Amino acid sequence: MKALVYTSPDEIQVQDYPDPQPAPGEVIIKLKASGICGSDMHAYHGHDPRRKPGLVMGHEAAGEIWHSSSPRFSVGQKVTVDPLITCGHCFYCRTGHDNLCENRGMVGMTRPGAYAEYMSIPAASVIPLPDDMPFVMGAVAEPAATVVHSLNISMPKMLRPVQEQKVLIIGGGAIGMFMALLLASLGVRHVHLAETNPLRRAAAAEHTSARVFDPAAQPPEESAYQYVVDAVGRKVTRDMAVHALCPGGVLMHIGLQDWATEVNMRKITLAEMVVLGTYTYTFADLQATVAALHEGIFGDLSWVEQRPLDEGPQAFRDLAAGKTSAAKIVLLP
Ligand SMILES: [Zn+2]
Ligand SMILES: [Zn+2]
Repeated sequence: MKALVYTSPDEIQVQDYPDPQPAPGEVIIKLKASGICGSDMHAYHGHDPRRKPGLVMGHEAAGEIWHSSSPRFSVGQKVTVDPLITCGHCFYCRTGHDNLCENRGMVGMTRPGAYAEYMSIPAASVIPLPDDMPFVMGAVAEPAATVVHSLNISMPKMLRPVQEQKVLIIGGGAIGMFMALLLASLGVRHVHLAETNPLRRAAAAEHTSARVFDPAAQPPEESAYQYVVDAVGRKVTRDMAVHALCPGGVLMHIGLQDWATEVNMRKITLAEMVVLGTYTYTFADLQATVAALHEGIFGDLSWVEQRPLDEGPQAFRDLAAGKTSAAKIVLLP
């Protein structure tokens, strides 16, 4: 089959790759849509020790069942996947925190991923899609679920209901876009979105109701927000987040560009801030997100760009160079 293979830092190629083989308890999916994730971009630059050359990346997938070793799925059925392969019996799996599974693997990381014509995955990780749901919408359930999960774990820490919060989102990539759309659907009126790339700023202004601004030209006001989402995760954005957050506020840290930097712990401590990390989503978050997407909670998704799988290498180059306004590019195998 045809697949996009990560060959060396800043290099990804369309290659012939062995077809996945049927295995007990697994299904093979004929892929129809595979999203490019920020974490794949990170790996593309050679910055992720978990993703090594020779790998087919991609974990935001939708397609049709091509072969099934499970009675739960039949050939031709429309599906998306939970790319986290979890054990089901550790403490975290048993308590509904399966995203933190001690024995987890991941498609596009510990096994071949979705930038290909076919992919195998345990049937336990497959989620059916409604028949009338576009494949592209199914593929973006994964990043949207990351946002649903992060908001779910943030809300209990807020001093007042989310609808009353002044929110700052830092970063207009897919996570920032989905967060702005989700908050708007919940009736949160005061949402500002900081983005330095003018192309992404224009797209965020067009497709969300957030007030979009360039933080390089106009830094956010000090202690002006009760909820700040850092969807970039660099030193400069962390500093911006702590600066902009008010006492008792919640900082949701999603982005993972710089791993370790110094932050103003004095302000965090004295202002009783809650700093939360987040990792992906639970299976239940992903199921809820599929339903929310189908109900139109995230809008028409016309900001998601589609390109053929063959043009994947160019898509990676364009994203790396900041040459596209698309917060999300979905490849079509
Ligand atoms: Zn992802
Ligand atoms: Zn587990």
